Amino acid sequence: MFERILMANRGEIACRVIASAQAMGVEVVAVYSDADRDARHVAMADRSVHIGGAPPAESYLRGDVIIEAALATGAQAIHPGYGFLSENPDFVDAVEAAGLVFIGPSAAAIRAMGLKDAAKVLMEEAGVPVVPGYHGKNQDPEHLTGAADTIGYPVLIKAVAGGGGKGMRLVERAQDFAEALESARSEAKTAFGNEAVLVEKYIQKPRHIEVQVFGDGQGAVHLFERDCSLQRRHQKVIEEAPAPGMTPEMRAAMGQAAVRAAEAIGYKGAGTVEFIVDGSRGLRADGFWFMEMNTRLQVEHPVTEAITGVDLVEWQLRVAAGEALPRQQGDLAINGHAFEARLYAEDVPKGFLPATGRLAHLRFPETARADSGVRAGDEISPFYDPMIAKVITHGPSRAIALRRLATALAGTEVAGTVTNLAFLGALARHEGFAAGDVDTGLIARDIDRLVVVPEPAPKDVALAALAACGLLDRIEPETGFALWAPLAREVVLRSEDEEIRVRIQSLAAGAHDLEIAGQRVEARRVGEGWRIDGQPAARVAVHGAQITVFAQYGVSFEVIDPLERDSMAGGDSALIEAPMPGMVKAVFASPGQSVTKGDRLAVLEAMKMEHSLLAARDGVVAEVLVAAGEQVSAGAALVRLEAEEDAAA
Ligand code: ADP
Ligand code: ADP
Ligand code: MG
Repeated sequence: MFERILMANRGEIACRVIASAQAMGVEVVAVYSDADRDARHVAMADRSVHIGGAPPAESYLRGDVIIEAALATGAQAIHPGYGFLSENPDFVDAVEAAGLVFIGPSAAAIRAMGLKDAAKVLMEEAGVPVVPGYHGKNQDPEHLTGAADTIGYPVLIKAVAGGGGKGMRLVERAQDFAEALESARSEAKTAFGNEAVLVEKYIQKPRHIEVQVFGDGQGAVHLFERDCSLQRRHQKVIEEAPAPGMTPEMRAAMGQAAVRAAEAIGYKGAGTVEFIVDGSRGLRADGFWFMEMNTRLQVEHPVTEAITGVDLVEWQLRVAAGEALPRQQGDLAINGHAFEARLYAEDVPKGFLPATGRLAHLRFPETARADSGVRAGDEISPFYDPMIAKVITHGPSRAIALRRLATALAGTEVAGTVTNLAFLGALARHEGFAAGDVDTGLIARDIDRLVVVPEPAPKDVALAALAACGLLDRIEPETGFALWAPLAREVVLRSEDEEIRVRIQSLAAGAHDLEIAGQRVEARRVGEGWRIDGQPAARVAVHGAQITVFAQYGVSFEVIDPLERDSMAGGDSALIEAPMPGMVKAVFASPGQSVTKGDRLAVLEAMKMEHSLLAARDGVVAEVLVAAGEQVSAGAALVRLEAEEDAAA
């Protein structure tokens, strides 16, 4: 076994790998960028090396600097995590050329699966069923249109170099094909520098079922399937294992196909073979097709660990160190059911916009496994994926594991940034999902029901108001009781742009009557806790002027200082600000230029989407405050228009 390895990644996966390695007695060297100096993965590691600036291109994508760090610290192997350099065969070559071990497959195996078209050809030859379609070299639009006609609509156009749902377009009618092809190509070109596409049959009521495989370079085993059908825009949201409704015949057929795929390329380490399944006819052994193989440890690997009892990272290290596969196929069995929910800093009602912020408070219930790369006090920065944690539950049956997921999500406490927690909670309680009736369209169909903006309940407002006045944890000596004259005060809170006025009538240190929009609420201290209208109070976190009540997945309030209120009224239509953190992709404004309301002034790329920033009114550009390529935080001023009087003069 290695004595020391280097973890070439950050966030939750770095922490996850460090934990398993250290449990095996293996030391870990962490690497970090400017933005991650105080990150959790650095604190966990035995040693750490600074590798550059915050943007990934200056740090986590610098293979040369990372290899140098490994050599300088005496690490014998490099674990790539997922994302970044994990599926970069040139990096694997460089690692090996430096005399180090890459904890993962060979460069050749990664290359074989790197492009979706070549992978499909290879899988066809290995006898693995592939989605019917055209994955040849001819990229002529006429030829591709013809291929789509032959396949029959609806079809899916996919970038051959694609990943993360980018460069993919669903086309329902022949007359829309040309335009969809054009936009898929341009997106693929920007994202992957490769505009080649393939066209395949769009499977009806699709389910995404993938098989975890593990190889030692010769043979391979599978660790059963995961169902990742709960997706939003081709991104996984909640994953589970095993797949609901799976039959023993289909599981055997999929497992064998996945093992064939892995063995066809001499696969070594952890990998995932993704299949698309036709869910319209129920699960059948002849109703699944190869989509792609991910040659790395997958984000959702913990659900497989939960049902098999295998530590996949431990296996990765053992196989990379030259050991044989720790178990044979016959020794592997499924125990119960598991779910994973991906908790992100994102503003769900605002179209799932990625968010940032300092986590004022972060707490997970003891009953769930929470894989996280951040702690309370840490910053969700604009440079990386805004994932906060993965919440994983296990149970003897699907129904119990799902109940545990719902309970764990309801007990998760995050303050300091908006999150998708309420959305995940709504999904965990969705009836169709509970019934196992899943397909990749479920979220889109029910999006209105799943995206709920909670109205703060009077009892939540009451708690926030008491916290704002410092009344929640003040324990007055009982002897001082008589000195209390009923005391009235007023607090103004803001929630979702609405101001809420609260009158508090304090009767004693532990007894307050509150009035909120004409409604009366009673708060009484009982023993150590509080009761609001007789019900046990939720937990509360106070951080500066922000108060979060942990009810309904977290309701946040801002305490308004009456003196500051006036200056805050009304937005400034002269300033065009970044609505979220991201990278300025393009700027279309220059000083002195006249613009009309609605004109596109800049394009911001945040995580996986592009957002146009428009002029809020007619005017003349006074100043352009950013350049294309710059990383900006939420609220950063990008373009300023001349004040309206000046413009008129
Ligand atoms: P998965 O199938 O595991 O969800 P995806 O194909 O969506 O993965 O993305 C590939 C991997 O790269 C994921 O593990 C994801 O976390 C990571 N990733 C995706 N986008 C980014 C990004 N912008 N920056 C860093 N890592 C990313
Ligand atoms: P990526 O590399 O972006 O992960 P995939 O090929 O794995 O791309 O596809 C991503 C998602 O798109 C799948 O999980 C599935 O929801 C959907 N999808 C892909 N291929 C098809 C298809 N042929 N029919 C229906 N849905 C599909
Ligand atoms: Mg995929």
